[in-house]
Amino acid sequence: RRDLNAPTSQRTFLDAQKAAIEEFAMNKNKREREFYSLDVGDSTFTVLKRYQNLRPIGSGAQGIVCSAYDQILERNVAIKKLSRPFQNQTHAKRAFRELVLMKCVNHKNIIGLLNVFTPQKSFEEFQDVYLVMELMDANLCQVIQMELDHERLSYLLYQMLCGIKHLHSAGIIHRDLKPSNIVVKSDCTLKILDFGLARTAATGLLMTPYVVTRYYRAPEVILGMGYQANVDVWSVGCIVAEMIRGSVLFPGTDHIDQWNKVIEQLGTPSQDFLMKLNQSVRTYVENRPRYAGYSFEKLFPDALFPADSDHNKLKASQARDLLSKMLVIDASKRISVDEALQHPYINVWYDPAEVEAVRFIQVFLFSQPPPKTLDKQLDEREHTVEEWKELIYKEVSEWEERAKNGVIRGQPSPLGELSL
Ligand code: AMP
Repeated sequence: RRDLNAPTSQRTFLDAQKAAIEEFAMNKNKREREFYSLDVGDSTFTVLKRYQNLRPIGSGAQGIVCSAYDQILERNVAIKKLSRPFQNQTHAKRAFRELVLMKCVNHKNIIGLLNVFTPQKSFEEFQDVYLVMELMDANLCQVIQMELDHERLSYLLYQMLCGIKHLHSAGIIHRDLKPSNIVVKSDCTLKILDFGLARTAATGLLMTPYVVTRYYRAPEVILGMGYQANVDVWSVGCIVAEMIRGSVLFPGTDHIDQWNKVIEQLGTPSQDFLMKLNQSVRTYVENRPRYAGYSFEKLFPDALFPADSDHNKLKASQARDLLSKMLVIDASKRISVDEALQHPYINVWYDPAEVEAVRFIQVFLFSQPPPKTLDKQLDEREHTVEEWKELIYKEVSEWEERAKNGVIRGQPSPLGELSL
């Protein structure tokens, strides 16, 4: 009754408020109708109805990944659930970094994000983030078990290097490349799944019970030294070596054992390397038994390669030569990504459009600092759980807006099927 007696301006205000409440309730209902839930292992996925036939395909430090069919894009996709990504610094930094960097990176050897959403209706209720990506067929762990010919092996290696070069050009040094973070399709195309360690990443302690794989980490990471872009070349060397051998090259049980496995095979590094270590690490390294190491002919004998033709013999010796230049303990003597791309084993695939693709989505450069400094700035951030929640929510909301237009990527491969 008071409303009716109120002056016109106040009535208009009250009407507007009522309309806003009704709209909110309508949106809430609409949103509820857009989603459905289903159990995947121990977790519940609540996804947009456009995504059907969910099946678990993997899990990592951040959560479970499902394959699904997207009825709108009419293609299969991968959906990763990040549960409460703001719950601690490690999860939050990684999720936020991933969401921001994904916007700056656009390369066929880096996984593309197709959609991002949260099923929760408001900031207060905000819990989970779902990332929708291009679906690939398998990760490299599965490919390692296969016998690959030189064509496929060198093509996979070439694509890893192209993806890494692109990350480097965006100021992102990965430092944690491993077979589980690299995915392939049966047509032999390859994509890197993540952006690796933040510069100040807590390496694993907060991520239990998830076990951190260290087999592929370079000596400068294991020994806590400064690092350059070619820190990622070491990891690629370890991955390729594993594809040739069929087993992990340096299967250390912990940080210390990791170093033992490296020097047992490659030999104790020279004095000038030891001089680069800080005092306590140097004392430890100097007190290890001395190893002479093995030649690359011993580490990767002909028998590991297909050797039925002169062509294959040549390729095997080229592959071995490249490995001997990648798996160098002292980073100052290790090959760079560019040099690796020019190596005879790899340069058969060289295509400037793939190697030199430094295309960033321009629109974001207006609102973000240039990519080269972006990763550094992201890394320096320290926030409370509530602040992280707000930052991540804002990123997700922006993506939800963007995703209405949908971004699809994917190019055909020059090679035939890889039967996965
Ligand atoms: P992540 O949580 O990103 O470490 O992914 C864990 C695992 O899920 C990977 O090792 C892959 O086996 C699988 N996976 C993740 N994303 C994809 C994708 N886009 N396509 C196919 N498999 C994927």
